[in-house]
Formats: sequence, structure tokens, C-alpha cells
Amino acid sequence: MRITELLRQEAPTFSLEVFPPKTSEKYTETAENARKIAALKPDFMSVTYGAGGGTGAYTTQIAAGIQRQYGVPTLAHLTCVSSTREHVRDMVRIYRENGIENILALRGDIPADGSVSRDYRYASELIRELKAEGDFCLGGACYPEGHIEAPNRKEDLKHLKEKVDAGLDFITTQMFFNNDVFYNFLYRAREAGITVPVIAGIMPITSPRQLQRSAALSGTDVPRRFRAIVDYFGDNPAAMKQAGIVYAAEQIIDLLANGIRHIHIYTMNKPDVAEGILRICPREALRNGQT
Ligand code: FAD
Repeated sequence: MRITELLRQEAPTFSLEVFPPKTSEKYTETAENARKIAALKPDFMSVTYGAGGGTGAYTTQIAAGIQRQYGVPTLAHLTCVSSTREHVRDMVRIYRENGIENILALRGDIPADGSVSRDYRYASELIRELKAEGDFCLGGACYPEGHIEAPNRKEDLKHLKEKVDAGLDFITTQMFFNNDVFYNFLYRAREAGITVPVIAGIMPITSPRQLQRSAALSGTDVPRRFRAIVDYFGDNPAAMKQAGIVYAAEQIIDLLANGIRHIHIYTMNKPDVAEGILRICPREALRNGQT
């Protein structure tokens, strides 16, 4: 099923993420986590793509397996900055052969040693190529606080508009811990003429280390209120996990109450965390009479 069809519905949508293993030894564990996450019956599941492009086969296997075995539509990610055009073409063929209709088209992070392919500089180039294929539903990434490399938010929004115009059907946000940041971004995006559905990306933080890593990589602001929670509960793993679940659930409840319909949870391959959030935000209750 194409994700645009799901996003057209009046009722809120929940999607959950899985990332593929880096090595074959971890494959069974990841596939089992994917099964448990699929059992939560999300509207769709996204499957990430290893930054260097070397684990694309796992992305395909997991995404195709979820659709085939559990009937949950998938969104397979694809990055380009470390890939040749030929490799991207191969991946597109493999995705198509495996029944994948939805692709999140990304540039990918620049590797630490700066080595990038000569074929791609920005996600918009990949999006144009995928759009020309004609048969994929395409998503892209967006950054409510501005992408970490962008000189400012205005410049980043200008490039986001170019990316959407290149052929995106929807965009998914980077994590944010302060919903006001998201509301402000949505307003600016609409003002800039970006009209495609925006899916709000929520990352449940369950350990201080995860927070440090995620915030450093993305440049996401950590509000004082959330910092205090991590300071207080950080030394107690069980309490920190519960506090992280509650914080993410509160964010989702506030988003839904303010008319945001599409929520993506960065589950970090942790079915229990996703389940904890969905226990606090039971989907049926949050639909508010919508079907
Ligand atoms: P782009 O849209 O190309 O933007 C990158 C930077 O270039 C921005 O600063 C932008 O402002 C700038 N820019 C764009 N166009 C131009 C232009 N014409 N001129 C000058 N500057 C320009 N990474 C993975 O490796 N695998 C994944 O599966 C993955 N999934 C993700 C899912 C989501 C929802 C998000 C938000 C991120 C994900 N990432 C993933 C991380 C992503 O690859 C990085 O954030 C990466 O640094 C940027 O990718 P992009 O597609 O947003 O790039």
C-alpha cells in the first residue's frame, strides 16, 4: 500500500521504525524485533538504510518480510551520498522486485573521512531520479530546527522546498523534544509553500547515553525540563526507560490534541518501548470518534 493513501485518511496514523543489522549474526534478533513491532499493528513501518549503503540487502529483506509475513506496509529508506548511480539503480530494481512501493529518499550523513560518491551531493538529486521511475511513493527528511550543516533555518527550508518540488509525497521530521519547535516549523513550511503531509518524528529517550548521542548527531535542542528528567532518572535504567516512554507519550498526546495527525516513533528496535507508548496513547482512544 502506498503511504500517501494512508496519509489521506482522516484518522491519525502511527508508524514505527526498525533499523537493519550491520552483520549477519544480528539478523535473527532484528527480524524478531521487527515481528514484535509489527504485532503492535502500526499503519506502516519504516526500515532504515545503513549510512554507507553496505547493508541495503538487510533493509530489503526486513522490509519485504514485514509486508509479506505481517501485512504491514513498509517504507524502505535509501541513501545516496556514499553510493554510485549504478548501486542506487540496483537498489531501486531490488526494491521493486521485492514489492516495495514506498521509499524514504535521503542524502545520508557525510562519512567521517569525508569520502563521498561523485554521483550525488544532495537528496534532491536522488528524489528526481526516483520520481522519474514513476511508480514509487516518495518521502524525505526534514529538520524542524534546521539541518546541522545548514547555515540557518531559512536556507534549510529553501532546500527542503526544492526537495519537495523534486517529487516528494510526504516528509518526516527529525526528532524534536519540544513540540513548539515542531509547530513553528510547520507554520514556516506552509508559509514557504510546502503543502505535503508532514509526519512528526518522536524519539523516546531511554538512557542518558542515547540522549547524548542523538542530540550530538542531530543538533536537536534538549529542553531544560527534559534535561532535568534525565539528570534525575539517568542512573536508574528502569526508571529512565519509563520516564522516556512517558515523555514521548506526552509529546504525542499534545501533538494529536493540536491537530497533528501523523506520528512516527523512532523505536530503536525496542518493541517494549513502542508498546509502552501505545499503552499510554491507545490509538482507539486518541481517534476521537474518527474512524
Ligand atoms: P539533504 O536534503 O540533501 O540536505 C543535507 C544538507 O544539504 C542540508 O543542510 C540542506 O540544507 C543542504 N542542501 C540541500 N540541498 C542543497 C543545495 N542545493 N545547495 C546547498 N545546500 C543544500 N541516515 C541514514 O544513513 N540512513 C537512514 O535510514 C536515515 N533515515 C533518516 C530518516 C529521517 C526521518 C531523518 C530526519 C534522517 C534520516 N537519516 C538517515 C539521516 C540523514 O541521512 C542525515 O540527516 C543527512 O545528513 C541529511 O540527509 P537529507 O536527505 O536530509 O539531505
